[in-house]
Amino acid sequence: MPIDATKPYDPDNIFAKILKGEIPCSKVDETAHSLAFHDINPLAPIHILVIPKGHYVSWDDFSATASDAEILDFTRFVGKVARDNGCVEQGYRMLANIGKRGGQEVPHLHVHLFGGAPLGPMLAR
Ligand code: 5GP
Repeated sequence: MPIDATKPYDPDNIFAKILKGEIPCSKVDETAHSLAFHDINPLAPIHILVIPKGHYVSWDDFSATASDAEILDFTRFVGKVARDNGCVEQGYRMLANIGKRGGQEVPHLHVHLFGGAPLGPMLAR
């Protein structure tokens, strides 16, 4: 069920629980402000989720309210994770779903990194 990205941050969402260590994840890498882990239900040979460690519901929230340090860290980290996982040469896709029409299910900002195979058209018609 897509979430309403205008609602306040839910500190008990599934990615908040991963950040608190209450549930496990398959970690790829992390920095002071960001964490990357494998998606539990991969849609491509490489499907990594990259999240800020701060409490941001969506890209809208993050881009408007995160600190410059968090935004810098996250932006560079998304690129580094893609490079480190061999995505760049053949190309890859990054995607952030936002709110109801975007189909966002988890109310903590996450960027999907897809790679490892041809990814097809951007959206199905
Ligand atoms: P959204 O639709 O919100 O953009 O994507 C949420 C993503 O989170 C989905 O691809 C889903 O498979 C993934 N996901 C949901 N719960 C968990 C979990 O507990 N662990 C991991 N690693 N991924 C999860």
